[in-house]
Amino acid sequence: MTERTLKQVIPGAETSDGAGVRIKRSLGQHPSVRLDPFLMLDEFGSTQAADYIAGFPSHPHRGFETVTYMIEGHMLHEDHLGNRGDLRNGGVQWMTAGRGIIHSEMPQQEHGAMRGFQLWLNLPAAEKMKDAGYRDIQPEEIPEIALDGARLKLIAGRIELDGCEHTGAIAGGTTAPIYADIHLEPAAKVSLPLADSHDGLLYLYDGEASLGDARLERSAASVLSDGDHITVTGGPDGARVLLIAGKPIGEPIAQYGPFVMNTREEIEQALQDYRDGRLIA
Ligand code: FE
Repeated sequence: MTERTLKQVIPGAETSDGAGVRIKRSLGQHPSVRLDPFLMLDEFGSTQAADYIAGFPSHPHRGFETVTYMIEGHMLHEDHLGNRGDLRNGGVQWMTAGRGIIHSEMPQQEHGAMRGFQLWLNLPAAEKMKDAGYRDIQPEEIPEIALDGARLKLIAGRIELDGCEHTGAIAGGTTAPIYADIHLEPAAKVSLPLADSHDGLLYLYDGEASLGDARLERSAASVLSDGDHITVTGGPDGARVLLIAGKPIGEPIAQYGPFVMNTREEIEQALQDYRDGRLIA
C-alpha cells in the first residue's frame, strides 16, 4: 500500500466568468494548469447577489463534459435539446457537450447564498463528437456512505471500502471519474483507496484538514502524488473536502474558450460550425 502525498498546490485565483459571476479558479486558470483528464475547476460562493445574479446566459460547448455540484442555492439549466434542470442544494448536473450543446445556467434567486463547483472533464478524441447528453442528479440519488468519523457522498465512480464496493450516481466511462464530497468530523481520520491508474486532487472548501502531514490549503486544488491510498484528517472543527480523480487521457489539447478539442483545425471547425449554426445540427 502506497500513501499518496501532496504533490502540488494550485490556489484558486479570483476571477469572473459568464456575465460576471465571481469565481475561484484553480485548474484551468492557465492552459498549463490542468490535471488530465480534468480541464478546469471553479468554486463559486457568495452571499452577495451581485456576485452571481448575472449567471451564465446562453453559450456553446464542444468536446468535453461539465459537472456542476451545487451545495447552496438554486440555478436553472436550459439547453437546445429542451432539457430543463433545476439545480438545488446537494444536486449535480452532469452535462456531456459532445459535438455541441448550447445552454444557459441562470440563478433562480435574487438574494441569499449561492455556493457550488463546476468541473470540466475532458473527453478522449473518439468521444468528442458524440451526441450531447444531460443528467440532472437529485440529492437523494447520490449515495451517502457512513465511515468512522465521516460521511462520503459518492457523486461519481466506484470505491471499495471494507470489502464492499460502492457505486456513485454516475459510474464508468473511459476516464472512470471519481467525485466524492467528504464531510469529516473534528479530528476524524479517514483512509480511502484510490487506484494508481487515476490522477487526482483534494479540494478543501470548509474547515481544516491534512493529507498525511501536509495541511491542505483552502479553495486550492491539492494535487496528489502517485499511490493507491489517501489518508485525510479533519481539523478541530472538522472539514469538507472534495476528492476528484480520473484516468488520464494523454492526448494533446487544443482549447478556445468553451471548445476543447485535440487540434487547432478542430477548434477552427468548431468556431465555424457555431457561426454557421451547425454546432448542434
Ligand atoms: Fe456552460
